[in-house]
Amino acid sequence: MDEGKVTRRGSLLRLGGLVAGAIGIGGIESERTEGAGPAAVASGAVSCVLTPEQTEGPYYIPNEAVRRNITESRPGTALLLRAFVVNASTCKPIRGAAVDVWHADASGVYSGFGQGAGNRSFMRGIQRTNAKGLVLFRTVYPGWYPGRTVHIHVKVHLGGNVVHTGQLYFPDKLTDRVFRRVPYSRRGRRTTRNSNDFVFANGGRRSMLSLSKRGSAYVAAITMGVHRS
Ligand code: FE
Repeated sequence: MDEGKVTRRGSLLRLGGLVAGAIGIGGIESERTEGAGPAAVASGAVSCVLTPEQTEGPYYIPNEAVRRNITESRPGTALLLRAFVVNASTCKPIRGAAVDVWHADASGVYSGFGQGAGNRSFMRGIQRTNAKGLVLFRTVYPGWYPGRTVHIHVKVHLGGNVVHTGQLYFPDKLTDRVFRRVPYSRRGRRTTRNSNDFVFANGGRRSMLSLSKRGSAYVAAITMGVHRS
């Protein structure tokens, strides 16, 4: 890993990004969170930790398409998801892991289920990590559905095994802001926030996305520490 490129200012910003979930989004919207994972580990600003396992829930569909853009032109606030996969034992990036994501669309619907039953693929996709352990997805900010806070589901596959199943979360204050705009604002108030979500309660704080604004879109970064088997 190229530690020389990690500036002190950058390290501090990244560290700030990691705790942004606890303090809201104030101050970081204008900052890029590029390299939130392995670079921050390399700089010594953070140590890698095992990301908590959380239930896959009822809406998983295996063997989805390998693609970066998973929106299928459905509406919503643009979201670029930057997920790093690192070895929780060594802190090193894991190359070639298949990262599998799925989430509700802006109206809170999953493809393949309920109102979304006619299409089994929107807001679902798989990407492989590069040498930096990074995958990118182009999607939209997820909508809410009854009983759950806003989240993105994720699985990490390595060598044919599932090495991580988890959920990624958004700062509530930012969700409130995004949901004031269409198409999210066409629905009533969401039922559940991070603070009263029964899944979030078991480790959700360690699966908070670090959000920053880029134009009209948001960039959401996360580092997932996993065991290789
Ligand atoms: Fe879900």
